[in-house]
Amino acid sequence: MEVREKAKIVITVASLVAVTVLFVAEYRRRHRKKQTSSSLSSCYLHSELKSQFGFKRVFADNSYSGFKHLKLDDSSSSLEKSSNGHPYENEITVLLENPKIEFGFLRGEYSLELSDSYVWVETELQLQELAEILAKERVFAVDTEQHSLRSFLGFTALIQISTHEKDFLVDTIALHDVMSILRPVFSDPNICKVFHGADNDVLWLQRDFHIYVVNMFDTAKACEVLSKPQRSLAYLLETVCGVATNKLLQREDWRQRPLSKEMVQYARTDAHYLLYIADSLTAELKQLATEDSSSPNDRFHFLLEASRRSNMTCLQLYMKETEDFPGSAAASSIIYRHLNGHGDNSTVYLNAEELVRKLCAWRDLMARIHDESTRYVLSDQAIVALACKQPTTTEEIYDTIAHTDLATESSPSSSSSVQSPYPVICSHLDDIYEMILEKLAKLDDILPVVLTKCLGTNGTCPISVFNYSLLVNFKTKLSGHSAPKQNGHRNFKQQFTRKASRELFVKKFSCKAPVYHNCRIYANDGRLLCYCDKRKLEWYLNRGLAKLVEENPPAIMLLFEPKGRPEDEGNDFYIQTKRNICVGCGEGKHYLRYRIIPSCYRVHFPEHLKSHRSHDIVLLCVDCHEVAHAAAERYKKKIATEFGIPLFVRRVLDSKEAQGTSSLVEDESTGNSEDAGVSPLHLRSAAMALLRHGNRMPSSRREELLQTVKMYYGGRDISEEDLEKALLIGLSPHERRKLERKKGVSVKHSAEVAGMDKQEDANNFESLDEKNDGEAPTDSEKIMNVERSTVADDSGDGTSEGDGATELNDTQCNGNMLHQQNSKLSLLGHGPHGKQIVEYLLREHGEDGVRDFCQRWRKVFVDAVHPRHLPGGWNVSHSGRRDFGEFSVYNPTKRLSTE
Ligand code: AMP
Ligand code: ZN
Ligand code: MN
Repeated sequence: MEVREKAKIVITVASLVAVTVLFVAEYRRRHRKKQTSSSLSSCYLHSELKSQFGFKRVFADNSYSGFKHLKLDDSSSSLEKSSNGHPYENEITVLLENPKIEFGFLRGEYSLELSDSYVWVETELQLQELAEILAKERVFAVDTEQHSLRSFLGFTALIQISTHEKDFLVDTIALHDVMSILRPVFSDPNICKVFHGADNDVLWLQRDFHIYVVNMFDTAKACEVLSKPQRSLAYLLETVCGVATNKLLQREDWRQRPLSKEMVQYARTDAHYLLYIADSLTAELKQLATEDSSSPNDRFHFLLEASRRSNMTCLQLYMKETEDFPGSAAASSIIYRHLNGHGDNSTVYLNAEELVRKLCAWRDLMARIHDESTRYVLSDQAIVALACKQPTTTEEIYDTIAHTDLATESSPSSSSSVQSPYPVICSHLDDIYEMILEKLAKLDDILPVVLTKCLGTNGTCPISVFNYSLLVNFKTKLSGHSAPKQNGHRNFKQQFTRKASRELFVKKFSCKAPVYHNCRIYANDGRLLCYCDKRKLEWYLNRGLAKLVEENPPAIMLLFEPKGRPEDEGNDFYIQTKRNICVGCGEGKHYLRYRIIPSCYRVHFPEHLKSHRSHDIVLLCVDCHEVAHAAAERYKKKIATEFGIPLFVRRVLDSKEAQGTSSLVEDESTGNSEDAGVSPLHLRSAAMALLRHGNRMPSSRREELLQTVKMYYGGRDISEEDLEKALLIGLSPHERRKLERKKGVSVKHSAEVAGMDKQEDANNFESLDEKNDGEAPTDSEKIMNVERSTVADDSGDGTSEGDGATELNDTQCNGNMLHQQNSKLSLLGHGPHGKQIVEYLLREHGEDGVRDFCQRWRKVFVDAVHPRHLPGGWNVSHSGRRDFGEFSVYNPTKRLSTE
């Protein structure tokens, strides 16, 4: 007994010693490494050759300048094309209108099995031969693998191409600079390219090789149209071909050469079966058409739809993400996720926040300089730890990073032997040290200092095709007045007033925090149901309807069987992560919610047709917002004419009528129903300007404003009293009292935004940074829509009509209020019009009428903005059919309180 006890103790002590020795050894090893590298202050890249450093030319480098797309020198068509648009837009549009459908993806004998041989393509000659073979095919299958950990933007490491006869693996690292050889076959509209889930592949091919796909059949889109229970390739391989695949291999390091046997097998599998799958799905699509339709014309309906959706993917354009300041998006996200909650105004907190911003800027820049992913430079957790702990020596910094990453075990390179801190940190530890000790005190100093230190004349780091234009671009960025922008359509030589008001607008009304939190809800069988915001998670958790299964970002699992799954609906839109960028141009530094279906209609929809709000609320930057809004306003007018239901309300002649009552009157004199009236906000800003500056403004200007007010009073002459009354139009009694109390002050006081003082603003506008992602319901469908328009300026000089002084035109549109108090004007001038339209649609065409109406609006939006960043699965014909489950937060009886 005793001996055993002793033995136990000895063993325990011995193991402890061993562990300690190992730990100390490891610690020393790391310390040595760090000390040598930082004391030499030499960059790890001098001794590490990364495979992309063999590329002679890259289309997407790590500078801040936008991506330039291929320009075809076909002078006839380039005239109409936008400067940096899709070079094959015309060809793809033709395909969308007249699809070329492949009726057999296979011909003659075909063996489903993978043969023993495949072709490894690694020389230019081999690539040329491949191009010749492909040019003779009617169809071939494609898949790509990219590498992203050790690259800032990622690069295509392998392309798998399978024809009816053979599998080709193209070494796109060795052939990077000559890949243009494959351009013609990919853009040939007579050759159908079969992909599975092509969204990324299409963009990667553009980014790395200026290869554009024209004529595609995407088997994932076919699944979508067929409402398959799953859409993954693994599912298709299993159900259609009886082949099992290990999708974990997709995360392998695809740069490695030679590829392992398993990787070759995996890569071939991803492309080899696609022709067979496409063939089988096409047959199903045709079958579905015959079962489903009475008319023979519909026979190919579903096939056409799958083809159309596939080719829509081809229209996507690769873009580099833009930020107003390097790393700012990541910084905001980290601050929001990790520092909020403790967010007081203490110096400690403010210092931590400032340090997060600096570290993110530094990380972004270092990643660009070294062509590494930001996560390979420094993890988010390590940034948080550094910001909170604020270590004071290089050793402490090193240990903080090492311990944090060890503890969170989210090592990005689990397969590789390299451990955190990664080489960038090890060889540039001094920079972090200086940042924390505030030698690099200001955020703005980081960029020039770091760039000069790394890439300047005596810089520490090697120059590469990826970073050489960083310095050049950065200098122009500093001397120019604004950051280079992604889109050519933005004109930065706009007048200062316009710029200033735009900035004011952005500051006041853009979303202050990421809109999409990307929290997840899983079903009780572990299937992902949707992404949503935190509030929705809390709603379920607080009611004991779900349990928390992951912390960061949080995920819950429902404890009950949800009614309906996203995939049942034939739309996986709700299980997409949504990015916090403008869906139009990709702008990431600010965004506003935009409601594709104007609120004046939507509030009157039957409840169950409103439930899919997240589909029809998108994020837009102010520029795209303006475009979308202008198009929507034009279209409203069209609707007004088409249905003969005027847009505006108008007060009838007699000024002695009770204040605030109004009626809809068609302007019979012009017959122009949409012009017959004035919106309450226009009326108020005109009245405000006249009262304040009326006698100082040029007569032409005064006359113009008077016309606006007269329109409301039915054309009669107006008195000062009328003007005062006009100020009150559209306000609730409460707001009216408030304004009256303040009037003496506010009317004389210069207002920030035409016609409205700040206080009123706060009353009438919904702040857009509400912690609501547009999916979580608000209590009474109190939808408000920020619309933007250029209105009369009230500066009184009268010279700058339409100078773009920004005003938010409108807009409280409270459905309940409209229902209950029909006689009162809503601030949203189009409220009664919307109500009448929706009533008409429901009466004449039922709910389908409303659905068609929604589709029209989505089309208006798409035509106006040409959005390039809509979440996958978003489409114009979205049905919005979905039942409420018993516990659904959308269930009208289970409405969430907004508080
Ligand atoms: P696949 O569409 O499966 O052929 O994947 C193509 C490429 O996408 C892979 O080479 C990876 O670079 C990337 N990828 C896809 N899924 C993942 C994942 N779950 N994790 C990391 N990378 C992925
Ligand atoms: Zn370096
Ligand atoms: Mn693949």
